[in-house]
Amino acid sequence: MSPRTSGMTSSPCLCVLASGSKGNSIYVSSGTTSILFDAGLSGVEIERRMASRGLDPESLDAIVVSHEHTDHIRGVGVLARRYGLPVHIAHETIEAATTSIGRLPAVVHFSCGSAFTIKDMAIHPFSVSHDAAAPAGFTICTPFGKIAIATDLGIATGMVRQHLKDCTHLVLEANHDPSMLENGPYPWPLKQRVKGRTGHLSNESARELLMDIVHDNLAYVVLAHISQQNNTPEKALSVVAARCGKHPVRFSAALQDRCCDSIAL
Ligand SMILES: [Zn+2]
Ligand SMILES: [Zn+2]
Repeated sequence: MSPRTSGMTSSPCLCVLASGSKGNSIYVSSGTTSILFDAGLSGVEIERRMASRGLDPESLDAIVVSHEHTDHIRGVGVLARRYGLPVHIAHETIEAATTSIGRLPAVVHFSCGSAFTIKDMAIHPFSVSHDAAAPAGFTICTPFGKIAIATDLGIATGMVRQHLKDCTHLVLEANHDPSMLENGPYPWPLKQRVKGRTGHLSNESARELLMDIVHDNLAYVVLAHISQQNNTPEKALSVVAARCGKHPVRFSAALQDRCCDSIAL
C-alpha cells in the first residue's frame, strides 16, 4: 500500500456521519490524522456525507472497525480499496466479516486491551458486552483531547466505565426507551436481544453510566445508536442530559438519516 500522500489536513474535529441500526460511521481528525471509526453505510453514502461537511475521503489515514455487524462494516471494503486505506480490526472480527468486506489493501490486527497508534492518535480498544466475535469500544487520545466511542453496549461493565472516565468528548449509546421497546413492534426474541446483556444500552442505563463518569473537563456528549422504533432523539436527550446539573456538558443526538454537525476539538 502506498503511504498517504495527499498532504491534506482538516481541522481537529469529531463528526458522526451516521448512527443507528441501519449504519454507523464516525469521523475523527486531529488535523494531521483522519480516521473513520466504522463504515456501516455504502461507500457512496459515506463519501456524500463527508462532502456535506467539507471532509475529504482522500485525507483519510485508516478505517478502524468495532465489530462485524453489517451496520458497522457495509462500506469498509469499498472505501478501503478506493482510497488504499489500512483497516485496523480484531482478528476475530475480520474472520467473521471476510465475506462481506472482501479483499483489503492492508489489514492491521488489534486486540482489545492493547493500545496502538496511527500517526498522532493513540487508540485504545476495549471489550464491550455485545453479541459479536470481539466487539470493541475505543478511546482516542489526540493532541486536542480524549474521545471515547461507546456504542453497541449490552451493559456498561466496570471496564467500560474505567475507559470512559477522563474523556473530553464522548459518543455514547442511548439505544432505547424501555417502555417503547416493550410496547413497540419488535418480535419478542428481538426485544429480548436488544435489552439483554449483549444487546444495546437503554436511555436510563446511559444516564447512569454518564453520572458515574462525568467530570468538569467532559465537554461534549453525542448520544448515539438511537433506535428509530424504540426511542426518539428528544426522549434520549431528555433522559440522559437531565441530571448533568452543575457540569457544563453540551449534548447532541446523532441521527440515522443525516450527518451531525462537526464538533471542533
Ligand atoms: Zn450497531
Ligand atoms: Zn452490533
